[in-house]
Amino acid sequence: MKNKVLLPGTTAAGQQTTLGVMGGGQLGRMFVHAAQAMGYFTAVLDPDPASPAGLVSHYHVQTDYLDEQGLAQMLQRCAAITTEFENVPAPALRTLGAQRVVAPGAEAVAIAQDRVREKAHFVRCGVPCAPYAVIETPEQLRAVRDALLPGILKTARLGYDGKGQVRVNSRAELTAAWAQLKSVPCVLEQLLPLAAECSVIVARGADGTVVNYPVQLNLHREGILAVTQVFEGNVAPTLAQQAVAAAVSIASGLDYVGVLCVEFFILQGDSAAEPSLVVNEIAPRPHNSGHYTLDACDQSQFDLQVRTLAGLPLQQPRQHSPAIMLNLLGDLWLRDGVVPVTPPWDEVLALPGTSLQLYGKLQARPGRKMGHLNVTGADLAQVRATALQAAELLGIAPF
Ligand code: ADP
Ligand code: MG
Repeated sequence: MKNKVLLPGTTAAGQQTTLGVMGGGQLGRMFVHAAQAMGYFTAVLDPDPASPAGLVSHYHVQTDYLDEQGLAQMLQRCAAITTEFENVPAPALRTLGAQRVVAPGAEAVAIAQDRVREKAHFVRCGVPCAPYAVIETPEQLRAVRDALLPGILKTARLGYDGKGQVRVNSRAELTAAWAQLKSVPCVLEQLLPLAAECSVIVARGADGTVVNYPVQLNLHREGILAVTQVFEGNVAPTLAQQAVAAAVSIASGLDYVGVLCVEFFILQGDSAAEPSLVVNEIAPRPHNSGHYTLDACDQSQFDLQVRTLAGLPLQQPRQHSPAIMLNLLGDLWLRDGVVPVTPPWDEVLALPGTSLQLYGKLQARPGRKMGHLNVTGADLAQVRATALQAAELLGIAPF
């Protein structure tokens, strides 16, 4: 269905528009918060009765993503539907999209769900990515060029937070790794010397308007985002411009409607060369590296998700404060990985410019994203000092 404008609040006919989201994780929860703040009703589809978004939504459809009755309930309730979870089956989005506005569309999500199709899209857009080979057959495995080793073998589908990836140094390790990944379709990427990682979040409307946030500098630990820092000069200006231009062209090339995050690697240059940029992957939704926008920008990435879904005008968002976000993983609730503890929130919140958001997850597990802490302020040095103090109080390694 074509996008039409869905105004918030009560209409002249005394009705309220409901916006839906497929997936009930923390991203869905923050979408629900933003949609409700603007005056929409919300519906979430997620099988988990205790899902973070389901807990705060007006309606919660508790079925599987492909359940016909569940999808029918979403169609009945919602005027428009988005996704917060990358692996919502594309057929579910197609079913919904036949009758309602669905943004992003099934096709764009299907490309983002599959590293093979995703990389082909980067090539189409002329945006460089890591050298790679597709491995779907034993012949393709044998034909891999030596130049791709050492490399990282990644499943084409369903990987996240470093899951579904194996580092390989030799052909023997590659063969063993593909067997370990059950010989599912994979891509082998050359292991690149990373100087840093960054991401750009754009929002694109149905009319083709694109707005963007500044480049986010991201630190990953064990494949999971740990810290995002966003301030003037966090990345060299030429690289920042390249990253924004690449993200815009990737979104436009998909005829994308919604919020899209593009992740990049900044490569170490050899002594003479300038560092350069390659695209890593895209996420067809708001992104963990954009949570700082909740406190450091005039509009958050979730506000823009609401606007793109409802067909409302997009304005270039403005960051008004330097920001550092610390991801709060389940490890903080578990001393030595097992003994339950409560992090010292009172001490953390005594620090200036701290904003805590916890996602309402009932159980902490190592590596599970439980919440985030944003630190903002007028002055970068102060923000950094505060973020490091907060990290120390929480037992997060300095950065
Ligand atoms: P996920 O879907 O789990 O986020 P990514 O492809 O983004 O998977 O990989 C997770 C992390 O692994 C990256 O953020 C980066 O730190 C590291 N990584 C991935 N691919 C490469 C590569 N080709 N070279 C070097 N490091 C990589
Ligand atoms: Mg990633």
